[in-house]
Amino acid sequence: MSSLSAPAALPTPVVLPATKAVFWLVGTALFALAIYYFIGVDQGAYSVFGKDMHVHEFVHDARHFLGFPCH
Ligand SMILES: [Zn+2]
Repeated sequence: MSSLSAPAALPTPVVLPATKAVFWLVGTALFALAIYYFIGVDQGAYSVFGKDMHVHEFVHDARHFLGFPCH
């Protein structure tokens, strides 16, 4: 009876080449840092776009929701 049991399917691990993994790791980290900067830092104490308030207004609700200091 136990001889009729199906062989267990072994999961095949996803193996990325090292350069591809580093690309995704660095790209994700840079993207996350950019999002963090524009939501939490930009147009608080300083801004990369000067006196223009478009970035501030665009992420304003997210800034308050996440508890970053605003006004
Ligand atoms: Zn605000």
